[in-house]
Amino acid sequence: MSDQAELLIPEPISAGLFLTYHCNGNCRHCMYACGSSWPADWIEIDLAEEILGLLSGKIKGAPFGERKIGINYGLHFTGGEPFLNFELLLRLTKIAKRYGIPSLFVETSCSWCTDVELVKRRLIELRQAGLDGILFSVNPFILERVPFERTKRAVIVGREIFGENAIIYQEFFHNLFLALDIHETVPFQDFLKMAGSVLNYMELIPMGRAVYQLDSLFTKQPIDVFLRLSCRKEITRDWHIHIDNYGNYIPGFCGGISLGQAVDILSGRPIDLNERRVIKSLVMKMDDLYRLGQDYGYMAKEDGYISKCHLCLDIRRYLFSRGEFKELRPAGFYNTIFRLQNVEGG
Ligand code: SF4
Repeated sequence: MSDQAELLIPEPISAGLFLTYHCNGNCRHCMYACGSSWPADWIEIDLAEEILGLLSGKIKGAPFGERKIGINYGLHFTGGEPFLNFELLLRLTKIAKRYGIPSLFVETSCSWCTDVELVKRRLIELRQAGLDGILFSVNPFILERVPFERTKRAVIVGREIFGENAIIYQEFFHNLFLALDIHETVPFQDFLKMAGSVLNYMELIPMGRAVYQLDSLFTKQPIDVFLRLSCRKEITRDWHIHIDNYGNYIPGFCGGISLGQAVDILSGRPIDLNERRVIKSLVMKMDDLYRLGQDYGYMAKEDGYISKCHLCLDIRRYLFSRGEFKELRPAGFYNTIFRLQNVEGG
C-alpha cells in the first residue's frame, strides 16, 4: 500500500459548485474560510460549462424525486455567497438545467435579503430558470453577521416560491431564534450567555476555520489519539464533494485540499500520488502526514487537537508556508487562515 502511485477518485453522485470564496460573512465555523478578504474571483462561464457538462449524467437526484432537494443529493451552487453575483447564478442555473442536472439548489446566508420584493423577484427568476430549490443556512455564527430579520424574510418568501424545496440548515436554530424573538445580529459571546447550552445539540464539524476560532468549545486530545487514523474514505468519497471557482476538486468538506483540476478528475484521470505527498499521506494514515510535517520542521501542539481535521490543517498550513505542494490549494485559503490567527489570536 505504501507504494501506491495512483489513486482513482470515484465519480461523484452529489456535489457543490463554488461560484466564489468571496463572502460578507467571515463566519467562525466556515470549513472553507470564506470571507470578505478573498478577492471577488468568480467562476468563469467556460470553466463552469465544462464542469457542469462533465457532472451531468453522474449526479444523482434525491431518492424522493429528481426535482426534490436534500443536502446530500444533486448539485448545489455555493461559495462564498452565490447571491453576490446574481447574474452569474442565473446563468449557471440555466446551463445546469440544460444539462438536465437533477435536484438543483442554491445555498445562501440570506445576507442580501434586505427587501421582500428583491427576494421574491430573484427567487422567481431562478425557479423559472430551472432551479429546484434553496437552502437557507441558519446557525449562531451566521447570526453574528446576518440580521435575523433577513433570514426570516428569506424563509417566508422561499417557502412561497419553492414550497417544501425551501429547506433550512439547521432548522433547530431557526426555531430557536424565532422563539427568542431575535431581529438583528447577535455577537457569539452574547449568544453563549443567552442559550449557550443548546450548542450541545448543534451539528458543528470541527474542521476549517472552526479549529482555530471555536476550539474552546471542544476538548483537546493529544496527537497520539489521531495518528493511527486514515482519511482514505474522506478523500475518495463520492457524495457531497466540492469544486471551487478555480476548478479545484475538493474532497467532501476538506477546505484547502485540491485533488487536482476537476476537469481531469471528472474525465477519469487518476491522481499521481507521488506528485501529491500530502494526499498520499492522508490516504495512508495521519502519522505519515505528521512525519512529512516533521521533515519540514513541524512540531506537535503541546495542548493537543480538537479533531483529526485540526491536526491535518495545522500540519497543512505549516507545510504551505514551507514548501511547494500543489495539493494545498487555493492559496487564499491558507492566507486567510493565517490572517485570522494573527488578527484574532485563535
Ligand atoms: S483530516 Fe484532513 S483530509 Fe481528513 S477529513 Fe479532515 S480535513 Fe479532510
